[in-house]
Amino acid sequence: MRIREFGDDPDVAVVAGIHGDEPCGPEAVESLLADPPTFGRPVKFVVANETALERGVRYLDEDLNRAFPGDAEAESHEGRLAKRLLAELDGCTTLALHSTQSYAGPFALVDTVDPATAEVCADLPVDAVVETDAYAGGRLIDYPRTVEVECGLQWSETAAANARELVTAFLEATDVLPTESGVGGDVPVFRLTDRVPKAPAADYEVFVDNFERVEPGVPFASADGEERVAENPFYPILMSATGYEDVFGYAGERVGRLADVATRADRRGSTSATRQDVPANHR
Ligand SMILES: [Zn+2]
Repeated sequence: MRIREFGDDPDVAVVAGIHGDEPCGPEAVESLLADPPTFGRPVKFVVANETALERGVRYLDEDLNRAFPGDAEAESHEGRLAKRLLAELDGCTTLALHSTQSYAGPFALVDTVDPATAEVCADLPVDAVVETDAYAGGRLIDYPRTVEVECGLQWSETAAANARELVTAFLEATDVLPTESGVGGDVPVFRLTDRVPKAPAADYEVFVDNFERVEPGVPFASADGEERVAENPFYPILMSATGYEDVFGYAGERVGRLADVATRADRRGSTSATRQDVPANHR
C-alpha cells in the first residue's frame, strides 16, 4: 500500500487500486501527484493493492472489496490489507476509484444517499448514483462518508481521463482544491434490488443498456443463445456479458433525482421512526 499525505491528520482521502486490474485510478493519482497543486486542506492519497497492480491481476487471494473490515492476522493478503486500509481511512470522507466492463460513462455508488454522500455526489461529473445497501457486506462503501466511482471501461483511455476529472471534482467538493470546474448536477439515483444470475455457458450476450429501463417481455441477455426475458420492468446496473463470473450484473429501480432523494434522506435522519419504513431487503 502506498500512501502520500499532505498536511496534518487529513480527513479527506482518495483511494485507487483497490482492484489491481483497474489502472485508471492509480494513473490519475500518479499524474496529479507528479506535480502536486497547493492543497487548501489536508488530504491523503492511497494506492491500495500495489502487489496486485504490479501483477496486473484483480487480487492475489480474495477480492479486497469484499474483504472489509479485514483482520491483521488474516491468511489472505487482501484480508490483512483491508484492515490496514480501513485504519488509514478512519474518519475520512473518501473517494474510491474503480472501472468496469459494463458502462462507458462515469457513475457513483454509495451505500445509501445521505447528507454526506449526497454532498459529494452532487459535485461529481457522473451520469447516475447507485444505492447498493441491499448488497452490503465486505465493501468499502459500507462505511460512512465513502463514495465509489466507476470511471469507465476497464483499461480504456476514457476511464483514465474520467478518473483524473473525478479526482479533481472530489477535491473541489471537499474544499481541498478551490472550485473551478463547477461540474456535477441533479442526476438520477438508482437502487440495486436483485442480482441477475447467469448459467454456466461459453458465450454470453447482453442486449440492453445500463440505466435504461427494460420493459416486461423484452429479451435482455443470452447464455449460449438461450435468451433471458424480463418478467418485470427493471433498470440494468453493472450489467455486462463477461464482467462477473456468475451474474450478468444487477437489476435496479429508479429512486428519483439526487436532490429529492437527499432531501428525503435528510428528513428521515431528523425523525426517529423512519428506518422502519424501509423494506427489510433494502436496509
Ligand atoms: Zn473495482
